[in-house]
Amino acid sequence: MATENFRLKKQGTQYVHAGAEPDPSTGAIMTPIFQTSTFVQDAPGVNKGFEYARSQNPTRTKLEEALAIIENGNYGLAFSSGVAATDAVIKLLNPGDEVIAAADMYGGTYRLFTKVFERFGIKFIYVDTTNTAAVENAITGKTKLIWVETPTNPMMNITDIAAMAGIAKKAKAWLCVDNTFASPYLQNPLNLGADIVMHSSTKYLSGHSDVIQGALVMNNKELRDQLYFIQKSCGAVPGPFDCFLVLRGIKTLHVRMRQHCENGRQVAAFLHAHPKVDKVFWCGLESNPGYEIAKKQMKDFGGMMSFTLKDDSQEAALKVLTSTRVFSLAESLGGVESLINHPATMTHASIPREERLKTGLTDGLIRLSLGIEDPEDLIADLNQALA
Ligand SMILES: *Cc1c(COP(=O)(O)O)cnc(C)c1O
Repeated sequence: MATENFRLKKQGTQYVHAGAEPDPSTGAIMTPIFQTSTFVQDAPGVNKGFEYARSQNPTRTKLEEALAIIENGNYGLAFSSGVAATDAVIKLLNPGDEVIAAADMYGGTYRLFTKVFERFGIKFIYVDTTNTAAVENAITGKTKLIWVETPTNPMMNITDIAAMAGIAKKAKAWLCVDNTFASPYLQNPLNLGADIVMHSSTKYLSGHSDVIQGALVMNNKELRDQLYFIQKSCGAVPGPFDCFLVLRGIKTLHVRMRQHCENGRQVAAFLHAHPKVDKVFWCGLESNPGYEIAKKQMKDFGGMMSFTLKDDSQEAALKVLTSTRVFSLAESLGGVESLINHPATMTHASIPREERLKTGLTDGLIRLSLGIEDPEDLIADLNQALA
């Protein structure tokens, strides 16, 4: 478990050293990849804390310690994907329980809730969580969980985490925050009163577009024990090599995030001033409705943004999407390389068009995941694609 000393250090120092004591058997500075399914016992029940690798694996244990440290929580749990982590949280519930979920959230979360868990008798109520009063009004005696994502994908809406925590506490419900878009470097929901933080570690935590993984972090021991029981019983655990990759990613999270944020600032300013661009959705722009709350609960504004052209048609957007040379046309986000995406036909194609339009997700919307390249090249690339 994390020591108090670690928590006193600066964020970057924590990230480099999180979960990384030298291996006691060899002195290896990097956590070894324990590629094993089982562990030899001295006598039945007498072991070194490891029995079978679905229940515990030393590489995963080190990663789980690191996850707790970087989210300033007591306990971390790693899962085989972000949606597997979400799946574990919903398995805390029983038929008849109600969940208040953000109306504007990751499509895969929406699909898991509506297409899988509704069949098990769990009720999901979708609310605009940027509207605190609307969330308060949706609370009933059956509300067990509030599920929030901030900033959202792809509209960059901001929800007030501390306000949600207040509502959840009053309702005796849990608050879970999907912190994937911000990353622990920019935002720590547990500090703001959330009960559980969820990550798609696939994105900024790994940072190199080479692994699928998820994470949960919490403070409450009882909640940790319940979620650990689900992790072990349902079995959506990541392999040791994937745990090693995420541990390695965490070491450079602060350095990467600083460049993602700097690129965000420069590209947002460029797009904002470009004559062909209509709206820019980035929480660091003062014109963004969530700007004040983002400033309050985030350290900086990140490298995810969306924009529309004055010609807000699919044809005009596709022209830009297929003309970039530095930006690659792909789904996903949070890697060192910049990506460009067309939400209407790619990441958000499963959401009906009328529903999409209600949240502002038009056929012309373009989403960017800014990598850590030099901003001059990113701007030059967008400039030639817009021309
Ligand atoms: C990618 C993503 C997920 C799902 O994570 P996977 O690792 O792909 O399973 C959940 N939430 C957000 C915000 C994401 O971007």
